[in-house]
Amino acid sequence: MKKLAELYRGKAKTVYTTENPDLLILEFRNDTSAFDGLRIEQLDRKGMVNNKFNYFIMTKLHEAGIPTQVEALLSDNEVLVKKLQMIPVECVVRNRAAGSLVKRLGVEEGQVLNPPTFELFLKNDALHDPMVNDSHCKAFGWASDDQLAKMKELSFKINTILTDLFDKAGLILVDYKLEFGLFKGEITLGDEFSPDGCRLWEKSTLKKMDKDRFRQGLGGVIEAYEEVAKRIGVCL
Ligand code: ADP
Ligand code: UDP
Repeated sequence: MKKLAELYRGKAKTVYTTENPDLLILEFRNDTSAFDGLRIEQLDRKGMVNNKFNYFIMTKLHEAGIPTQVEALLSDNEVLVKKLQMIPVECVVRNRAAGSLVKRLGVEEGQVLNPPTFELFLKNDALHDPMVNDSHCKAFGWASDDQLAKMKELSFKINTILTDLFDKAGLILVDYKLEFGLFKGEITLGDEFSPDGCRLWEKSTLKKMDKDRFRQGLGGVIEAYEEVAKRIGVCL
């Protein structure tokens, strides 16, 4: 399957149309952004690592019965996916307090959240992805009640699958962001699951192994991504 035309260039990926109107190619670039695109740097190998990481995770989720976008890994940096009609809200699940939750509520970083929380954020960099709720989604037509219920159900199912997968690799899945879209009317997992969009801490040391290394200038960003990939069994 070949790329036809560039449909959209995001902060980390470029989306291309293909000969099949139902399929797109996502190209993972080395661009790494933080603070809603305010800071952008090129990190060697990042596109390849995230593409293979995402393909591995999406395949695991598919095998566990989650509807995902993934069709085929095409190359180091490209994956063939179903063309989704994206829902413009991000779903965030948290098992421990970190990031914006700590800032917003003044709670301690690392506090265990039992049960895990579920939050919705509007995808809008200019507005810094504001938090929204179900009624905003309905009133503005971003998602219906049924669609929201499905997104929440799938987000928590994914939490069970991935918490276990990372736990077996000696890692804590602290939190993560998911994006869903519609494919032939069905809520389907899109975008990516990689260390760019989740927090992973080493169980024994609580070392940060995710994009916080970039956000906080800790260094060794891709080395940490590669270490996580190796531990869960991604072939790089
Ligand atoms: P951003 O738009 O946040 O800068 P990216 O650089 O990751 O993010 O760009 C990828 C874009 O492609 C995102 O806007 C995402 O919503 C969209 N996208 C991801 N997967 C799919 C898909 N399967 N079908 C259609 N669009 C998708
Ligand atoms: N996240 C993301 N994209 C966003 C916002 C958040 O991938 O636009 C991820 C982030 O990496 C973390 C989780 O969602 O794993 C929760 O992020 P948080 O709300 O704490 O925001 P942050 O302070 O990280 O921007």
